[in-house]
Amino acid sequence: MKRIYLDYAASAPLLPKVKEILEAYGANPLSGNPSSLHQEGRVVRAELDRAHTAIASVFGVHPTEVVLTSGATESNTLIIRGVIAAWRDEHPDETPHVIMSAIEHPSWYNTARDVGADVTVIPVSKEGVVKVTDFVSAVTESTALVGCMYVSNEIGTIQPIAEIGKGIEAWRSEHKTSWPVFHTDAVQAFPWCNTHFGHLHVDALTLSGHKLGALPGIGALIIKRHTPYKSILRGGGQEWGFRAGTENVLGALTLATAVQSLDHRRETVVAQVELLQKALESRLAADLIDVRIIGHSASRAPHIVYIWLPNVVDESFVHKLDLAGFAVSSGSACSSGAMLPSHTLLALGYSDAEAFGGVRISVGHNTTEDDVNAFVDALKAAIG
Ligand code: PMP
Repeated sequence: MKRIYLDYAASAPLLPKVKEILEAYGANPLSGNPSSLHQEGRVVRAELDRAHTAIASVFGVHPTEVVLTSGATESNTLIIRGVIAAWRDEHPDETPHVIMSAIEHPSWYNTARDVGADVTVIPVSKEGVVKVTDFVSAVTESTALVGCMYVSNEIGTIQPIAEIGKGIEAWRSEHKTSWPVFHTDAVQAFPWCNTHFGHLHVDALTLSGHKLGALPGIGALIIKRHTPYKSILRGGGQEWGFRAGTENVLGALTLATAVQSLDHRRETVVAQVELLQKALESRLAADLIDVRIIGHSASRAPHIVYIWLPNVVDESFVHKLDLAGFAVSSGSACSSGAMLPSHTLLALGYSDAEAFGGVRISVGHNTTEDDVNAFVDALKAAIG
């Protein structure tokens, strides 16, 4: 049976340019530690520098502001723990305050809840979008960190990051302080949204390789030099002391290649995926009655369509689609073997029972309109 993969937001297939890199290095693997002084080390160091420089130029930052990590979970953990550690050094007797949206990824919200901070959770509208003023008015003298993801990994809604960033900058300059730090998890935002630092007004941003068609196990925390941060990974001082540990150079090259390749072809890639989103949504509207597209009237990234089905009560619906040859994602999450309702649907006001009804379809460079049409046929058959 032909498989149709519609789960790019979970992990995207490798981009053709990334495959080329792997083929080139598969025959001639990078051996040598980039921190070593000998020739082998220097050769690998040059490749690593190339990766930093390429990523930095796409995001409009200095190469030393690109900290390579093992992925977004690590990047989110580093920024939260690193900022809170720096804040505690300056305010030893106070409890830090963290502000985050209600739809952060678990790697953000679980870590924020683990660091002993007072946490303010900013709600989202019925359409899955936060309000800028909610963030800015929640900032106090104790706020160490503000986090808001750029694009929801579940429902694809775009959050007003640049506007929140401007509000926080204004607060800092009015109060003559470098706190709070503003971070965005942009894992699902590149290449769909403007992620240039000149536009965003953020201090730090998270990226993950395997969501972009690079290898898994590589990601980045892009962090501006002025940002208060104390490294929590101590060791050999790699990545300018921000993240110790020998770098994944091959992974870094795949990430740099994916970022550059998507950036060069950005207009074409975005237009192609927008067409797929439109095709899917108009077929859903034409053929199906009982499907709700979440965030439909909000501004959304084009690679995600999140539908809600009133009669879906658990993940067995996604298994049914899998058996029919389609890989899509359930909105609910598996934790310690038990299924949990989607925290994003809960944040949108759905009940516990209703919050099992989400199905995420996410598309990308290998998806065709035929795939999307075949999916709608399969969805209709699965609904019965
Ligand atoms: N943040 C967001 C928005 C994500 O979509 C994901 C992946 N689901 C992560 C963080 C975690 O990414 P990784 O698997 O690379 O650690």
